[in-house]
Amino acid sequence: PELAAAPDAVTCRGERFKLYLSEEQIQSRIRELGEQIAADYADVGIPILIGVLNGAFMFTADLMRAIPADSEVDFYKLSSYGERKVSSGQVTELKNVDAKLEGRHVIVVEDIVDTGLSMKYVLDQIEALNPASLRSATLLRKPEAAKVEVDVDYVGFDIDNLFVIGYGLDYGQLARNLRAIYILDEEA
Ligand code: 5GP
Ligand code: MG
Ligand code: MG
Repeated sequence: PELAAAPDAVTCRGERFKLYLSEEQIQSRIRELGEQIAADYADVGIPILIGVLNGAFMFTADLMRAIPADSEVDFYKLSSYGERKVSSGQVTELKNVDAKLEGRHVIVVEDIVDTGLSMKYVLDQIEALNPASLRSATLLRKPEAAKVEVDVDYVGFDIDNLFVIGYGLDYGQLARNLRAIYILDEEA
């Protein structure tokens, strides 16, 4: 059976959220990023995508399928945001990567770069393992929320400084299953 379209509004943990980025917008941007990565790595070597759990699991899977060339995948796990809507500013590592990254062409894949602390932490950890090259990708970035400077090579969307849910991004561990991205509906 066909999946019903992603709804225009959802309720999560008693709060109303409205559509911010549709499934079509997300998937068409991911196809562009996949083509770009394939072109960039064609003469470089096979990249290994390192998804940052939990939030980036869905983006990592879709991005990998959008790259029309060989790639590998592994995961890094950082502590979650908890139930709050603002970044805790604390980064705790829960699981390191299993793959050997020395000499590899690594692309760190995040769901969102908010303060930038998580992305910077993972990039610093991986840099210390002497990869052949190191780049980063994020589906979303909030330029106004940056607390540390971190260059991201592949950005899906620059967004407003708002709390978003869906497409891997949670609110108290829920909403990760939504295929579109939603923001709090202040008028509800
Ligand atoms: P950072 O502040 O370190 O850049 O982001 C930390 C992590 O917090 C992100 O990887 C993401 O999982 C989570 N996060 C940041 N902003 C949001 C947001 O707007 N919504 C949700 N659900 N999670 C977020
Ligand atoms: Mg994340
Ligand atoms: Mg979270």
